[in-house]
Amino acid sequence: MPGRVVMFSGGVGSWGAARRSVGMHGIGQVTLLFADTLIEDDDLYRFLLETSARLAGRDCPPGLLARAASIPPLTEMGRRRRHLLDLGAAASAALGPLEWIAEGRDPHRVYGDVRFLGNSLVDPCSAILKRRLMRRWLERDRDPLDTICVLGFDWSEVHRLERAEGFWAPWRIEAPLTEKPRRSKEELLFELEGLGIRPPRLYAEGFAHNNCGGFCCKAGQASFALLLRRHPERYRWHEEREEEIRARLDRDVSIMRDRRGGRTRPLTMRLFRRRLERRPGDFDGSEWGACSCMEEPSTAKEVDAVGQPRLNGSDLVGGPRPRGRKAGGPGRSAARAARRDPGSRRRR
Ligand code: SF4
Repeated sequence: MPGRVVMFSGGVGSWGAARRSVGMHGIGQVTLLFADTLIEDDDLYRFLLETSARLAGRDCPPGLLARAASIPPLTEMGRRRRHLLDLGAAASAALGPLEWIAEGRDPHRVYGDVRFLGNSLVDPCSAILKRRLMRRWLERDRDPLDTICVLGFDWSEVHRLERAEGFWAPWRIEAPLTEKPRRSKEELLFELEGLGIRPPRLYAEGFAHNNCGGFCCKAGQASFALLLRRHPERYRWHEEREEEIRARLDRDVSIMRDRRGGRTRPLTMRLFRRRLERRPGDFDGSEWGACSCMEEPSTAKEVDAVGQPRLNGSDLVGGPRPRGRKAGGPGRSAARAARRDPGSRRRR
């Protein structure tokens, strides 16, 4: 029987897909592959550890949970990076089905290195820190003939499967939540509570996804307004990173867009925050954006309409390459690899 590799994001969808895969094939056939961006919500790491352990039929070692409860803040990124890389290595060693890998950079480091600020059309962060890293792990560890990749898409997202199939080929993909019995996100959250596992807190705070701590370069104004309201210190950190990249590129670029008056203009996080401080309701409440880290954007979309330089495929594979346990591949040795990479020792 082919083994399953679940693209395990820390969200409720990939947990639901993993649970079904384990139910159908047994935990011995399932690997939970998590690619860390280093800026996830702290509670995501707790959720990741608890669900990985529970899927393996055991409790999570308290020492791992204690380390997940003492992650340094974003403002201490050097310490945070080391803490998370060490925690990932320890968790992968202790929890059988979990493979916690990390490229070693966070999304803003990637934007700076590829000289392109991520936005709703182009996401160098997930291309480098998730899709390509996970694909390299597959190339080094799993034969397409006996491995199937599992994605957390649900029945309302069948249209996303086709694009994902193209990117993950020659590995076949499965999305168990597109099959019956159908489950909504709310029902999955309810199932979690029934199992005695606390759902990731970002859902209760109103975020649509449990990715990158409520931040996303593909998020819209409504999502950024929520981030500012619920996590102002986190918003400020991202705002400062955006300003750094604008200065470095010397271009009027931004993650958000202002579409008032029928014209599209850059809308920086700083400008947006100042606007909301004066007029709290002055934003597009319908614009949430969509996070789709597991899909490759089409080539035609690899161009930004608001003045950024063109980004091509080779830019996305530039920068430090992951090195790890097999011929330098990503995996449990990601912590040691990132420490060896001089770039990862730079501080913000
Ligand atoms: S969640 Fe958004 S910001 Fe984070 S890696 Fe994915 S696309 Fe990038």
